Amino acid sequence: MRPRLLILGGTGEAADLARAVAAALPGLDAITSLAGRTAAPPILPGQMRIGGFGGADGLLTFLRAEAIGLVADATHPFAARISAHAAAACAAAGLPRLVLRRPDWPRLPGDRWIEAADMAEAAARLPKLGRRAFLAVGRQDLAAFAAVKDMDLVVRLLTAESPPLPGCTVVTGRGPFRVEDETALLAAHRVEVVVSKAAGGEATYAKIAAARRLGLPVLLIRRPPPPPGPTADDVPAAVAWIAATCAAGGCDPRRTAANR
Ligand code: NAP
Repeated sequence: MRPRLLILGGTGEAADLARAVAAALPGLDAITSLAGRTAAPPILPGQMRIGGFGGADGLLTFLRAEAIGLVADATHPFAARISAHAAAACAAAGLPRLVLRRPDWPRLPGDRWIEAADMAEAAARLPKLGRRAFLAVGRQDLAAFAAVKDMDLVVRLLTAESPPLPGCTVVTGRGPFRVEDETALLAAHRVEVVVSKAAGGEATYAKIAAARRLGLPVLLIRRPPPPPGPTADDVPAAVAWIAATCAAGGCDPRRTAANR
């Protein structure tokens, strides 16, 4: 039986990992799992499955049923629940697990960053930083800003839907974004402060560079603590770790079967 890799996806890096594994490690069967938040996800090499597993127990059942030999958690740095479930389920199944986690953005000269521990703190601090804010935090995290009063909020979403906050202006867009476009967008809406997750990666960095260019403050929500275990910063490092783990016998699917 060929070794089987489960990639927990939902990011550009996860898609790149699926492609890189197919190209570099043809002896490995990869399954990419998506939460199902995106209407038209990219078609990736290997198998794909969509939808939650039903918590850590559901994921453990899946790992055993599919005789998964190792797991790559390539989810978003803010997707803390699925990462915690992956850590627990892999520990229970005795499976090796790698976290593919893009590095934080570096703070550059001219950056005016104000850090917040979470969305609630960001919402509390926002009114002191300007009257017109650009919120690019994702639909799921907008509720914390519902209590913000006497501000004009420009909210970016993937698709145009009913306004997520009363009285806000909605703009739509999907990364990767260009610095020129982000600069024009912030200027057109006379934005005074940008709100962003400290997501890292290139696809959504342009708004940070645009804010620097315009001299605007950025209210940056810090990442949740990283999941435990080995981490790779980029796809080549992840492929190397997977290859080395399999070469050492660490991804033998019989290990999972023996743990049933
Ligand atoms: P989350 O809070 O950590 O996960 C919530 C639940 O969604 C999980 O408990 C799991 O359901 C399901 N889930 C999440 N990722 C999954 C995956 N790859 N495959 C199968 N089920 C998954 O994560 P989230 O913030 O909802 O993010 C969902 C997805 O969007 C992730 O794949 C993430 O990489 C991506 N994403 C998140 C953000 C963000 O800022 N949070 C931004 C961009 C992309 P069960 O408990 O039923 O298994």
